[in-house]
This record gives sequence, structure tokens and C-alpha cells, in this order.
Amino acid sequence: MTELKTQILCDDQNGLEQAASILSDGGLVAFPTETVYGLGADACNGHAVASVYAAKGRPSFNPLIVHVADLETAKRFAQFDKTALDLVGAFWPGPVSLVLPLAKNHGLSELVTAGLDTVAIRIPAHETAQALLKAFDGPLAAPSANPSGRISPTSAGHVSSDMDGIIDAVVDGGKCKVGIESTILKIEDDRVSLLRAGGLPVEAVEACLGHAIAKPQDPKTPQSPGQLQSHYAPNAAVRLNATSVESNEVLLGFGADVKGTVLNLSATGDMIEAAANLFAYMRNIDGIAGVEKSIAISPIPMTGLGLAINDRLKRAAAPRD
Ligand code: AMP
Ligand code: MG
Repeated sequence: MTELKTQILCDDQNGLEQAASILSDGGLVAFPTETVYGLGADACNGHAVASVYAAKGRPSFNPLIVHVADLETAKRFAQFDKTALDLVGAFWPGPVSLVLPLAKNHGLSELVTAGLDTVAIRIPAHETAQALLKAFDGPLAAPSANPSGRISPTSAGHVSSDMDGIIDAVVDGGKCKVGIESTILKIEDDRVSLLRAGGLPVEAVEACLGHAIAKPQDPKTPQSPGQLQSHYAPNAAVRLNATSVESNEVLLGFGADVKGTVLNLSATGDMIEAAANLFAYMRNIDGIAGVEKSIAISPIPMTGLGLAINDRLKRAAAPRD
């Protein structure tokens, strides 16, 4: 990745307007929330979301949490049942993310949801996060603003020391009060389960609901999406690292001059472009393969986003349950 000059922006009106304009142009801006500093990108812009994975050096496409300013905006992206609305009334804005069914015509990048039919969404309480979301006027995908595997940042200084030269800007809004990630609750047909313990104590959730909820160690709790081996597998069989294409195959290519390519993830070999196209192209090529053909995929180098792309392709090619 080319070296950037990372700007440190104040959390005044001028700084927030600059931050919102960088985000609208598809850039990456770290900003404070009450939990930790998030690395924000326009959640509807696939290229911007792919850049988040690249900046963090994430080895897999785990779905990201979408941050919005208010419930009205949240409803454009997720469907809220009565239980969800009860939790919203009690805890939003605040340090809890809700995993809910996607709304129709949500327009989010598939890299945000990792191709799932649910989305994790949250209204942060932090004043600066609120002001930025209002200035940007849209949804921000924002995992913690640290390189993958490193400690989450709770000050602008932490972000700059880890991500300087890698992201466009950081808005300095002081220290994060909560300091640990948001609690994640999954709500399915009014049933609630805890996917991740975090800033909102689970006891508070149970007191609000009036009953205990399923915890990660319970067999009833849904698995985290990243752990599912054949999650989001296409219908057609998949052959990886294909350097040629057979007559019963359709080829999903990568790079220049790939013979027989039906769709190309990136003809110029650009990893960010390939990642941004990945989910949509997998779906398209699956449709083209139909019941007659299988899918062959060109080798993708194991550099930068190649790790996450190959991780996802390996799952798509894994034996089916
Ligand atoms: P972070 O990287 O801190 O933003 O964490 C995001 C967490 O939310 C990851 O552990 C994801 O697995 C989880 N997550 C996000 N979206 C979903 C979803 N649709 N279903 C289940 N878990 C989700
Ligand atoms: Mg993190």
C-alpha cells in the first residue's frame, strides 16, 4: 500500500466536516466511540470497506459492525422486532451491538455482512461519534482501529502509533470511557443470545428482558460466522488455484491475461478491488455455472488482502455438510 499522510483532526465542526468528506470519498477515518476507537469507512462502499480489511491486515472477512446516528437510519439497514426495540429503548445509544435480519434494499457492501443475511448494528453514545455520523449522514462500518491481532486503541495516540501512514485521518476525541468492545447480542424471532461479552454487562440485558439469555458456551448459541467452514458456499462445486479451465467449468479469474475468464476479480491484480468484488462475483458466477458446471478460480497471491480472500475461497470450496 502506498504511504499516506495520516491527518490528526480536531473534534470541532471543521475537523468533523473534513472527516465526513474523507469518508464520503471512500477514505478511512478512525474516530472515538465510548468503547474503543473505530476505523470508519462508508458501509455502502465496497472499495472503502475492503480498504479497512487491508489497513488492519485482517486474515479473514469477519463481518463488521455498522454504526449509525439514530434508529431511523438503523431501520434502513436492519429489521427490528419487538424484543430488538425493547433493547434499543433501554440501551441505545450505548455499548451494545444488535445482530438483526437485513432490511430489504439495505445497500450495504457485502463485505460488511460477509455475505450473511444479518447485520450487526449500533448507535454509539460518544458525542464525537454521534457528531461524525450526523456530518457523514450515513452508515459507517467500523472495527477497532488497530492492526489485526493487536490491542484495541482507546486514545487517538494509540491509533496514530499503530496506523500512521496507513489510514487517511484520525479524529481526536480524547480517551474512550468504556475501553472494551461492545457487547454483541443476536436477536432471532424475539430470542436473544450473547455472541460477545463487552461494554454492556449481560446482567443488564437479562434484567431488561426479565429472563436469562443463551451464552457463547451454550450449545444453543449461534456460532460466530467466521467459524463456519462452508459458510456462504456457492451451489456449484469450487476448484481453487486453477491455472486452466476445463470444459465443464466457468472461471473466476484474477489478474491480466487469464484465458477463459468469465468474470475477473481484478484484471489489474488489485487486491482491494478483488476483495470489493468477491461476494458479488461469487454469487454471479454461481448463477452462470447453474446446475451443469462447476467453478474454477485463478490463484490469488497470499499477500495483503489475499489472505482474507483465500480464507473465504477455502471455505467456499470446503466439503459441504
Ligand atoms: P469488531 O471487529 O470488533 O467490529 O467485531 C465485530 C464482531 O461482530 C465480530 O466478532 C463478528 O463476528 C460479529 N458480527 C458482526 N456481524 C455479525 C453478524 N451478522 N452475525 C454474527 N456476528 C456478527
Ligand atoms: Mg478488534
